[in-house]
Amino acid sequence: MKYCSLTFDDGPNFAGDNTMNRMLDILEKHGVVASFFLIANKISDENTAVIERAVKMGCDIENHTWSHPDMTKLTREEMIEEYNKCDEAIIKITGKKPVLFRPPYICVNDLMHEVIHVPFICGHGCEDWVKERTADERYKLMMDNVQDGVMYLLHVDDGNENTLKLVDRAIPVLKEQGFEFVTAPKLFELKGVPMKDNGQNWTVV
Ligand SMILES: [Zn+2]
Repeated sequence: MKYCSLTFDDGPNFAGDNTMNRMLDILEKHGVVASFFLIANKISDENTAVIERAVKMGCDIENHTWSHPDMTKLTREEMIEEYNKCDEAIIKITGKKPVLFRPPYICVNDLMHEVIHVPFICGHGCEDWVKERTADERYKLMMDNVQDGVMYLLHVDDGNENTLKLVDRAIPVLKEQGFEFVTAPKLFELKGVPMKDNGQNWTVV
């Protein structure tokens, strides 16, 4: 069996946008799970149910800071606050402490590793943060990186239609190639790659 993981940053969505919820529709339709790295100051009464739905579906909720700053520009105290406030907001909804951290913009320095004691996670991007990248272009970038243990770094930020299209198209193709979809922590476990908070940005492959 080959394994892969879809990971989505920058949810949940502001009122009036339902990109993360529509991504859950797509995951549910195809019967797969994923990991969501949330920006916690976007959490509100309007979107708590979407996060609860993700958990109920077996998806995994992780930390992507409180307000999505470039953490390398922050003081020690500010870093701790960005990380802790996100953890607390997630625990309040899911009852579970995030076990992974994805630094905004994958900007990292030594101080961050000193104050945040969970593994930092990267992944293979499909340039889906570039608005002009079409669903086809994103799909090609995804397929160029297909291999056992691959973790894709994607986004469910507000209005990210092309990533919804990308994922809906890619899941059946990857399934056809023999891939099983698992959450990010599960991917590390299944591939026997131990994660440590040792100053590395982790991917499985
Ligand atoms: Zn982000």
